[in-house]
Order: sequence, then structure tokens, then C-alpha cells
Amino acid sequence: MEVLLVTVVAAAIIYKIGREVLGSFRHPDDEDLLEYWQGITREEDRSAYRQISEHLASCDRCRDRLDELRKRPGGPGAHSPMITRRY
Ligand SMILES: [Zn+2]
Repeated sequence: MEVLLVTVVAAAIIYKIGREVLGSFRHPDDEDLLEYWQGITREEDRSAYRQISEHLASCDRCRDRLDELRKRPGGPGAHSPMITRRY
């Protein structure tokens, strides 16, 4: 029984730490969001791309901010005619 208890406690601790690590991931700043949106992050830093994807999935604030950045005049597209618009 002791082994089972240790396993359960260890799993709970790992779960808690995992939650904290994900939760403490900083909000990407505007520049990060723009590069993410433009596909630059995906090309240059796979792990950062995945982190931002995961962050956006759980953070309404950053999703809203990304929407704002996309709508902003002079935002993505204005200075980078090479990027593919996805909207
Ligand atoms: Zn956020």
C-alpha cells in the first residue's frame, strides 16, 4: 500500500508543478505575438511557437490582444507584404 501512496503523492506533486510552470509562463509581448502571427516564430523557434500556442489556448487576454494587433492599421501586412494573410 505504501508504494501506491507514494505514487499518488508523486503524481500530485508533478501535476502541481506542471500547472505552475504553465501558469507562470509570461504573457508574450506584442512583438512576440506579431512574430507568432506572421509565422516567424514557427520558423525560428519551434518550442517558443508551441509555448505561445499553448498560452493562447488558455489566456483570453492574449487572444484578444492578438485580435487587436491583427486589426490595427500598420499591423501585420502593412510593413510585411510578403506574409500570407490568413483572414
Ligand atoms: Zn496571456
